[in-house]
Amino acid sequence: MKIVLATKNEDKIREIKKILKVGGLEILSLRDFSDYEVVEDGDTFYANARKKAFLAASFTNLPALSDDSGLVVASLGGLPGIYSARYSGKNATYESNIRKLLRELRHCSSRAAKFVCVCVLYFPDGRIFSTRGELQGLITKKKLGSGGFGYDPVFYVRRLRRTLAEIPPKLKNEISHRGIAFRKMAEIIKSEKVKM
Ligand code: IMP
Repeated sequence: MKIVLATKNEDKIREIKKILKVGGLEILSLRDFSDYEVVEDGDTFYANARKKAFLAASFTNLPALSDDSGLVVASLGGLPGIYSARYSGKNATYESNIRKLLRELRHCSSRAAKFVCVCVLYFPDGRIFSTRGELQGLITKKKLGSGGFGYDPVFYVRRLRRTLAEIPPKLKNEISHRGIAFRKMAEIIKSEKVKM
């Protein structure tokens, strides 16, 4: 069975390939196909993930797997949320997003946050499945560690006493929002494969 990951983000492709261990599954990504643009204009993680998977399935005629993920900070009313990738503007970088986040949180008493990942699998015949994973944490006052990507250097996990950028990738995949959502999806893929 072939499946296409509805993303061109190499960081995500690397993480997802390590998590999705399903025998006999060939994992492609949009990097293997010619380019098209997706406007992420949904107002929930699910709406964006569904749109990305639907477009990729239509474009490639393969089952398409997408995720939409982001950082949700309660004291910022849920921001950056679905705007996590472009929080600091159109030309946002991981670095500028972190700077904005730390600035916005300067006067907040709570630094509680969570990562959310919603994963959608869309088959060209219209079958659709979704899963969700969350990871609770705290936003640090400065960056710690050099691993991971995005907001990882400022996302502190209490029980590990480290940020996600300070732990090995394997451990991150075991506990992360993306790990949880994609492992649930791996179970669905295994059962759907049986029916194909
Ligand atoms: P998406 O590509 O629309 O799902 O946007 C996800 C954005 O949320 C990324 O660009 C990161 O800024 C942030 N993000 C999602 N997952 C993670 C993670 O595991 N670590 C750090 N940042 C993440």
